[in-house]
Amino acid sequence: MTVKFNSQKPFIIPIFIPHAGCPQRCVFCNQSSITGVRSKLSQKDVRDQIEAFLKFKNARRNKVQIAFFGGNFLGMPEDEIQRLLAEAAEYVKTRRINSIRFSTRPDTIDRKRLDMIKIFPVATIELGVQSMDERVLSATKRGHSAADTEKAIQRLKELNYEVGVQLMVGLPGDTPERLMASAQHVAHLKPDFIRIYPTVVLAGSPLAAWYRKGDYVPLSMEEAVSQVKNLYLLFKSENIRIIRMGLQASENLENGSTIIAGPYHSAFGHLVYSEIFLDMAVEQIESSALNTDSISIRANPGNVSKLRGLRNRNIEILKKKFGFESVAVRPDDALAEDQLKVGRLT
Ligand code: SF4
Repeated sequence: MTVKFNSQKPFIIPIFIPHAGCPQRCVFCNQSSITGVRSKLSQKDVRDQIEAFLKFKNARRNKVQIAFFGGNFLGMPEDEIQRLLAEAAEYVKTRRINSIRFSTRPDTIDRKRLDMIKIFPVATIELGVQSMDERVLSATKRGHSAADTEKAIQRLKELNYEVGVQLMVGLPGDTPERLMASAQHVAHLKPDFIRIYPTVVLAGSPLAAWYRKGDYVPLSMEEAVSQVKNLYLLFKSENIRIIRMGLQASENLENGSTIIAGPYHSAFGHLVYSEIFLDMAVEQIESSALNTDSISIRANPGNVSKLRGLRNRNIEILKKKFGFESVAVRPDDALAEDQLKVGRLT
């Protein structure tokens, strides 16, 4: 198995607009609890936030974007869309940022709105797709269809926007088979990048009531990691970047009252990578026919902790599975990010 990892990221200044422009509440969603933002942002709030983030910009990141997240951007009233875009565009004019990005629902991508935003320096549009399975879309009360997503991605690509797709695993009505078919459908549409979120039960969301009544059972952590890993490998094989796996850790999510149940982990992406590295190590050990009880596994220095797994979990699994006395992990600059080398411990 060959897996290429991508580390080039723009510097993103997030501006949260929780539930702004949402036509209804999707069952799994409570943006106010995820983002901690509860009121509408004034012009001053927006500017203060941008200025605060710009102070942290790492000199190595050459691309900077202002991003409007947490709502349905193009579902907002026209004057509000224009107000926020004009505010952000000022920073592009003065060259302190490069471009704007926002997240919106697929059913907001129409000619009228695209005409309205074309005068602004928007480079990236993220679509809240979540699933391409009509049964899942209907169970989660999304209110749009897979055909809306198809049309939206095609239109945005024709206009040369960078297109992102957000997908969720563990949604009501979903199964591993439906999820995989959904991901294949998305891969076929060739977006530029993907975010994958496991469904968690957020306090104050409609899903919380379903969970309490026993009408919704979240995925276990193991199931979520395995399903996200399968999506990761599928999109990688299609050369589609995965820019995030799991919710962004925040004080708000960690305080114990925001997430009622479900596979939340502050390092969810790390768990997925660790499982991928474990699979790679197992595959190599099995095919290398090493006759030894002590092995070394070399990996690019950036991947050593992924190979070890959280609290050395992978090392323990390998010892148990193959009866090794010791498994030494060695950093090796000569190896690419997607390579491991298993050998006898000398
Ligand atoms: S998922 Fe998107 S459209 Fe649905 S309620 Fe949340 S922010 Fe609004």
